Amino acid sequence: RRDAARARAADPCHTADGVRIELFANLGSVEDACAAAAQGAEGSGLVRSEFLFLGRDAAPSEDEQYAAYQGIADALPGLPVIVRLLDIGGDKPAAYLPFAAEENPALGQRGIRVGLAHPALLETQLRAILRVRPVGQCRIMLPMVSSIDELRAVRAIADRLRGELDIAERVEIGVMVETPAAAITADLLAVEADFLSIGTNDLSQYVLAMDRGNPAVAAQVDPLHPAVLRMIAETCRRGAGAGRWVGVCGGLASDPLAVPILIGLGATELSAVPGFVAEAKAIVRSLTSAQAQAHARAALDCTSAGEVRALARAFAKTAL
Ligand code: PEP
Ligand code: MG
Repeated sequence: RRDAARARAADPCHTADGVRIELFANLGSVEDACAAAAQGAEGSGLVRSEFLFLGRDAAPSEDEQYAAYQGIADALPGLPVIVRLLDIGGDKPAAYLPFAAEENPALGQRGIRVGLAHPALLETQLRAILRVRPVGQCRIMLPMVSSIDELRAVRAIADRLRGELDIAERVEIGVMVETPAAAITADLLAVEADFLSIGTNDLSQYVLAMDRGNPAVAAQVDPLHPAVLRMIAETCRRGAGAGRWVGVCGGLASDPLAVPILIGLGATELSAVPGFVAEAKAIVRSLTSAQAQAHARAALDCTSAGEVRALARAFAKTAL
């Protein structure tokens, strides 16, 4: 399969019965974008913009950010690049943003909450993204959304900045589904979000109420837990019902055992680590949607993550 995967790495990806599935790559640097292009990624479903912000004494300037985002866009010519707005706080602290000590950092100031609490930081990043050309190649994605108010607030700021920068074109703004609140209200979010992308790493931590950074429980934070899969199923159903695409940019999209389940649950975009893109395409091409849906239904009825993994291994042996 690996040879076949390499041969067709650059082609667009469809299931065996012709359903289009976009295969994107997650990026954490400008160099990653070149690797992703070489692997046949059809764009980036998650640019972790924290790479510009962490491990330094001051926040990056607008020009520095612009250069990085434009570099990524140029490495993926004509392809969508989804830039996640700064996602610090919680497990990703930054020295120049002193947070008050928090008893529960995972439930505190993090993700889009930080940007909205520091408007200058957020506006600088939005301006840098909006300056990338061609307009619209870079899309904007909000991390750790728990309410549509957060999307509305960012959209209002982005619209004002578009005015200041003389940009007439609409720029897509989507949300990450990483909280149970976002998953269960995906239909409401989808009315105003241009797309939804499930962050399975955080979604698992919040659905299971287990800290992904706590070594005592981290090993049990398994995104194939049926509770997490049911949240993913709800998100896909509610998002697609409202006419938006739903993708997965969390680590689960890079797990070969999970790909058939995610397709069966209704994800139409997967954003994986660059090195897995070609293999993920090969897996998708070997599946029919009916086969994937039946498999996903069986996974939703499993009683544990272990049972889902056993089911997925058996499926990979016989069906793929
Ligand atoms: C996630 O939570 O699944 C995700 C993609 O974001 P991060 O791992 O960067 O928190
Ligand atoms: Mg996350």
